[in-house]
Amino acid sequence: MAGSLGLEQSLDEYRERADRFIAELEEEMYLHFAGLKPGFELEAIHERYSDLTSLEQARWIGERVGGDGRMRELWRFACESYLGALTRTEEERLTTLEAGLEANIGSERIAFRMLGSEIANSDDRERRERLERARCSLIEHELNPLELDLRKRLRVAVLGLGSESAIDLYRRFGLPLDDLAAQCRSFLAATEKLYERALERLLGMRLGLRLDQVARYDTPRLFRANRWDAAFPADRMLPALEATLAGLGIDLRSQKNVEIDVASRPSKSPRAFCAPIEIPGRIVLVTKPIGGPDDWRALFHEAGHSEHFAHTSADLPFEYRRRGDDAVTEGWAFLFEGMISNPAWLTRLLGAEEVRELCWEGATQKLYFVRRYCAKLLYELELHAATDLTEMPSRYVELLRNATLIEPSPTDYLRDLDEGFYCTSYLRAWAFEARVRTALSERFGRKWFKRLEAGELLRGLWSQGQRLNADELLRQLDGSRLELPALATELAETLG
Ligand SMILES: [Zn+2]
Repeated sequence: MAGSLGLEQSLDEYRERADRFIAELEEEMYLHFAGLKPGFELEAIHERYSDLTSLEQARWIGERVGGDGRMRELWRFACESYLGALTRTEEERLTTLEAGLEANIGSERIAFRMLGSEIANSDDRERRERLERARCSLIEHELNPLELDLRKRLRVAVLGLGSESAIDLYRRFGLPLDDLAAQCRSFLAATEKLYERALERLLGMRLGLRLDQVARYDTPRLFRANRWDAAFPADRMLPALEATLAGLGIDLRSQKNVEIDVASRPSKSPRAFCAPIEIPGRIVLVTKPIGGPDDWRALFHEAGHSEHFAHTSADLPFEYRRRGDDAVTEGWAFLFEGMISNPAWLTRLLGAEEVRELCWEGATQKLYFVRRYCAKLLYELELHAATDLTEMPSRYVELLRNATLIEPSPTDYLRDLDEGFYCTSYLRAWAFEARVRTALSERFGRKWFKRLEAGELLRGLWSQGQRLNADELLRQLDGSRLELPALATELAETLG
């Protein structure tokens, strides 16, 4: 048996290797999705670090957690890495299969992965319906058999980690699943009427449809707000971000640890992303500007992650630089994404009437997403608790339809999931962001993003990485609690 010094030493080695493991994965992801490297060679990296991801390793760390929060984070890393390693082959088979699937629409052949954007960009309702039918058929016959195997394999693996279900495991990791589920139920009830009215109005305005006419293939079209594209041109996106950060006292161009990859490459991902290769040493913010409010939102979201990681203290241990409560980094990302729905910020781009309209539309879209995520959490809790999955497609439809008032497809019941209850990070991040924004406005005024003192406060909070969870950070900021009702109040004000 290792003495306590030997134990500390082997844990430190584990942390150091885990940090290298993530750095290599992040770099490979950056190179591939930025279009700098055609291949995506994760296999060799996983091979090199296979000692970190074994069941024995996860159990060994699990036995030493006790009441130590930092050890619990390390244990979660070991468990999630084990589950990931175990299902990697199936995941890769699914990805390869999915990449090669095509739908036959009349005489056209359309790649499965392009169906979503085809639906979003089509004004022809019949065509949207045909595309959606093809999408569901491919999922049902080609993808779901593999998805089902994957689900079963994960279930067995969780048992091997000493938990009776994923719910049990994530409760042991400290995720407040039960409290959050209760908050989701009250949020859904409290915002039902508000949502129904807003959705009905948006449907009429954008698609000329009534609520009783809407189908799921109308949703992507509904939220593709092309009328605003001209106000959010591609070439002004990065300058707007720089100006916003400058208002907070951050000079993006002179940040040595933040690289901005704006080069145009054919195979570069069209969606912005942040690759925290070294935290805080090397953060890459990748963008391929297309323009339009959604593209601006995506860039500002990723910039929020980038600034959080770039300001994280290098002195923090692995667990609080690389791991911890992901609601924190998502919350900082939402705070920046929220600029594109912030009336005080938007006045530089739009007239007063347009600002009101865009904010109203943005709030409707946000309410749709938050309600959808509330339902996703409630559904995932049922899915992980069920031993027999035959009822799950209909439960999926029921829970999602009740929340969004738009009927989803039962075929999505295994694909519309976030592994590791990541949906809870978004839900908690939305509540966190709403409260942080209120606190900043109360302290520094509506234009808090133009105050150096606000920037100073944010940098102080960012430097703590994810040492504190989102609840603890709020308590430190202004003594408030992380609650979804704060978000309901905020949305009601904009939509009211
Ligand atoms: Zn994010």
